Amino acid sequence: MNTAGRRERTPARCAVAGRCGGCSGADCTYPESLKKKENLVRSLLKGICPVHPITGMADPFHYRNKVTASFGYRGGEVLCGIYEEGTHRVVQTDSCLIEDERAQSIIATLRRLVKSFKIRIYDEDSGYGLLRHVQIRTGHATGQVMVVLVVTSPVFPSKKNFTAALLKAHPEITTVVQNINDRPGSFVLGNRNQVLYGKGFIEDRLCGLTYRISPNSFYQVNSVQTEALYGKAIELAALTGRERVIDAYCGIGTIGMTAAGSAGEVVGIELNPEAVRDARVNARRNGIANIRFIEADAGKCMVAMAEAGERADVLFMDPPRSGSDEIFLRSALRLAPPRIVYISCGPESLARDLKFLAKHGYRAEACFPFDCFCWTEGHVENVVAVVKENGNRS
Ligand code: SAH
Repeated sequence: MNTAGRRERTPARCAVAGRCGGCSGADCTYPESLKKKENLVRSLLKGICPVHPITGMADPFHYRNKVTASFGYRGGEVLCGIYEEGTHRVVQTDSCLIEDERAQSIIATLRRLVKSFKIRIYDEDSGYGLLRHVQIRTGHATGQVMVVLVVTSPVFPSKKNFTAALLKAHPEITTVVQNINDRPGSFVLGNRNQVLYGKGFIEDRLCGLTYRISPNSFYQVNSVQTEALYGKAIELAALTGRERVIDAYCGIGTIGMTAAGSAGEVVGIELNPEAVRDARVNARRNGIANIRFIEADAGKCMVAMAEAGERADVLFMDPPRSGSDEIFLRSALRLAPPRIVYISCGPESLARDLKFLAKHGYRAEACFPFDCFCWTEGHVENVVAVVKENGNRS
């Protein structure tokens, strides 16, 4: 079926629709889904910022490059899928609309192997068992595939044979990692990784640069839309080649490195040590010399920068869904960059933070929504240009 046809059609509801919650916004056509998201952003940013039409995907299916599934049992059968919303009951599907299809096929094999190797699945109530989750990441441009097996112990009996059987069924897998998570609770990954096969990370190409992505590092889940989103973010920064740029909440350094070619100097700030390690390797691999990374809380780091009398011409900020905290926003006011480019995956927290900035002399000029999480309900990424009003210092 051609792409336009797929967009106009209401997607066939999968067998677990309404239970898994992954695509709870799929009960309408794609253009309707886009309109709903655009309207949501318009209503939240009313009186704060003009909103441009949303950018959707030509083919909004199977876009997720990261798939996380949990293991469970039903009547002795091994299950692997997503938790039913609000519970820890595993809902299984072989025909997910939004996940990368390579990941779905690997998950089907894992179910079979777990059964034949008699690997005990972790039971949250008793705390017994080994295997908890699997996370599969695929490089959209490179085709590299990483399988992360999340287990409760460094001791994983028959891991060599298990890995060999997995690779035999899926030669497309480029690395397999054992991640150890022995803590109760809902965090998927623990902090320790042991490489079972390959390099222990995948690489992907985004906006012409190559990135290494380790199991614990953040990477946008929709590569196609991320290129469009970053392109707009760089355009809104209006760089001329001389600017001092801060990339706050930089992850593996993607936004800062995309900007570095048109800037004087870039400083990336990120809390997660593994992401900072990836960012430094990425800068070297891409031959970018005018960027450096600081492992710190973005707000505290920027307070220290302001106290040291440092300045910034452009501040990119891309916080988690909960948005920024007041320490961060106040430190931004002290650094007083003429231009802020705010990238957000949480429209509610974006509205809150833009209101705060507006009270302190920063005007949100334009918001551009992007559909990075197609078929979800209310999940939408935005990039906003924010400028400092002339002479209004806080
Ligand atoms: N800009 C990156 C990452 C965005 S996700 C990209 O586009 O890929 C948000 C990032 O903020 C994550 O990498 C997370 O580890 C980091 N983070 C969360 N809280 C933080 C804080 N207080 N200070 C600095 N970084 C933080």
